[in-house]
Amino acid sequence: MADAASPPLNILLVDDNPDDRALVIRELEREFPALHVAEITTQEGFDRALGNGGFDLVITDYQLCWNNGLAILRAAKSKWPACPVVMFTGTGSEEIAVEAMKSGLDDYVLKSPGHYGWLPTRVRSALERVLRKQKLLDTENALRKSESLLHAIIDAEPDCIKIIGRDGTLRYMNASGLALIEADSPHQLLGKEVIELVRPEYRQAFEELNQRVLQGENGTLEFEVTGLKGRRAWMETHAVHLEMEDGPALLAVTRDISERKRHEAELVYLANHDALTGLPNRTLLADRMQQAMIEAKRHDRLAVLIFLDLDRFKQITESLGHAVGDMVLKMVAEQLTGLVREGDTVAHPGSDEFALLFSDVANSEDAARLAQKVLEHFEHFPVTVDGHRLFVTVSAGIAIYPTDSASVDGLLKAAATAMDRSQDLGGNTFQFYSGEMNARALKNLAMSGALRDALERDEFELHYQPQVDLVSGRIFGMEALLRWRHPQHGMVSPMTFIPLAEETGLIVPIGAWVLREACRQNKAWQDAGLPPLRVAVNLSARQFVRRDIAETVALTLAETGLEARFLELEITESMLMQDIDVTLGTMGKLKEIGIAFSLDDFGTGYSSLSYLKRMPIETLKIDRSFVCDIPGDKDDTAIAAAIVAMALTLNIRVIAEGVETAEQLAFLHSQKCTSMQGYYFSKPLPAADFALLLQQGKTLEGAT
Ligand code: C2E
Ligand code: MG
Ligand code: MG
Repeated sequence: MADAASPPLNILLVDDNPDDRALVIRELEREFPALHVAEITTQEGFDRALGNGGFDLVITDYQLCWNNGLAILRAAKSKWPACPVVMFTGTGSEEIAVEAMKSGLDDYVLKSPGHYGWLPTRVRSALERVLRKQKLLDTENALRKSESLLHAIIDAEPDCIKIIGRDGTLRYMNASGLALIEADSPHQLLGKEVIELVRPEYRQAFEELNQRVLQGENGTLEFEVTGLKGRRAWMETHAVHLEMEDGPALLAVTRDISERKRHEAELVYLANHDALTGLPNRTLLADRMQQAMIEAKRHDRLAVLIFLDLDRFKQITESLGHAVGDMVLKMVAEQLTGLVREGDTVAHPGSDEFALLFSDVANSEDAARLAQKVLEHFEHFPVTVDGHRLFVTVSAGIAIYPTDSASVDGLLKAAATAMDRSQDLGGNTFQFYSGEMNARALKNLAMSGALRDALERDEFELHYQPQVDLVSGRIFGMEALLRWRHPQHGMVSPMTFIPLAEETGLIVPIGAWVLREACRQNKAWQDAGLPPLRVAVNLSARQFVRRDIAETVALTLAETGLEARFLELEITESMLMQDIDVTLGTMGKLKEIGIAFSLDDFGTGYSSLSYLKRMPIETLKIDRSFVCDIPGDKDDTAIAAAIVAMALTLNIRVIAEGVETAEQLAFLHSQKCTSMQGYYFSKPLPAADFALLLQQGKTLEGAT
């Protein structure tokens, strides 16, 4: 029942018969107290009403003298589809009613006295049906609207919103997400595995997050992705659990944080670098020192910190201004960076100070060399600023981990102290923090300087040590050993200067001299009628790896006139191990010329039998370290015996080196080693003495 407050029901009543109309109105008034009825009795009236509209209900008679109810129904429905139409039909015309229902009629009432009473209920239910339909439509509309609103919002959302299924494939992604991942259409991604977009290093974390969320938790992750067109970007994702019809899924909101990451990185960079030179500042240097100390400790090496201070920098700024001073600092920074290897650190801790940090230094000599290299660089290369050529020399201070200190602060202090000392000495020099190292470095430096001149000054000479055959008791060969007659230090051991010569590369010209001198001397002895012997010359690794070694040897033989069979080259195990193919090639070429090889210091390296078999090695020299403890040391004795046995099986001659005593000789002899070299027979002798030994032609004592 409509209440009093509801607006009147607006009815269009189409009927020719005034009595029937009155009847209808009367019946309806019983149900609907507020009624407004437009009574239509002509086609014109109906057409006008159609034009006006605003009706809640149409009631029409079927039998009209100017039209029929079906036409009215159709006209009304086409004009107002939502407006219910109820029809009066005469008895016996139910088929018409059915036909009308198909055209959208909402209900009908038979036009007979017994049925009029049904009119109000029929009308009400028609109205309610329409109302319900309307409501449903409204709800659907509202739903559709809110859905498209939601889509609009989701698509307008600048973050990537996506749904990932339990199998890891993409179910949905909004427009921003597609743009973010450089997809032109959703089809490029839908159904694909999302993890493919994640950079490999973050995939595990991404997968773990997904699993957690699928189990009901929420989670957040930062990771990097590669877009479909290759753009790398940083993402931050918040994922929540989602229950879908087919099981759990994952709703993720992901944001491009590349800009923030860049900014953060920039801040970190700024906090760790010096603005003028772009070099690490003190903070980062301390950090790197920590790392370097760990590295050095792990590899059993030294970490070296070298502090550098520009000499007389104050004068530069005072006379040429701060702008020039800044330029100088920049150029020094560049040059220092060019002087060190990748992985080493050049830092600018402040003012005109620089620091070099190395984590992989073998010994203090190497540290000294590094500092020396820097000093020499600035001595030779002036810095050109604003047309001024400035020779900027530096004062360097070296601190070594772990010797000087095992802490960052300790090392910084030590390096600064050493640097101050260099300044006190007048600059353009370096000082170690430790006095003992200073002394050693100084000596070494002086030595390498002197070594440079030794060839020119003719300070080298060769001594010769005989190699003896126990069976015949005769000298069957000799080893040429280099000696340096230093003007101040006297005779310097090759153990000291050969490593120095190798480091500086001087070994190449020195080695060439040794080869030539040994060949020349040997030929001279032969020409003088002494019994012809083979001379063994030691080769250094740096000589051996040179491409032209075979040519050098051939040329030397040609120039000195010595036959190749009177020359033997001694190489060490470590030289063999470098690049086996190159080694074999070099040895092959030399063997072609007719040169024999002996393997020096055998037992100290790692040569395996399989290597030896592939090499044209004629002789093994058992290293002195195994011989000297015979027969006291059981291990060494066993090793010596094993080497002899092995060589004999391989048909390689063995020479025992460093034989000093009769016991050693007896033991080696008992093992069938019959070739020997050592003080027991003779020390290495100057050429003249060796010639005398040969001239006497006597069998060496003990060698029978
Ligand atoms: P090496 O080639 O193993 O030479 C043998 C070393 O043992 C020589 O020392 C020799 O004097 C020493 N020696 C020989 N018999 C005995 C002995 O009975 N007792 C003791 N205690 N020592 C003995 P040297 O002459 O001091 O040479 C040392 C090393 O320097 C050589 O070891 C060799 O590796 C290198 N060397 C010498 N001359 C040259 C050279 O011209 N070129 C190259 N690259 N290295 C050379
Ligand atoms: Mg040797
Ligand atoms: Mg040796």
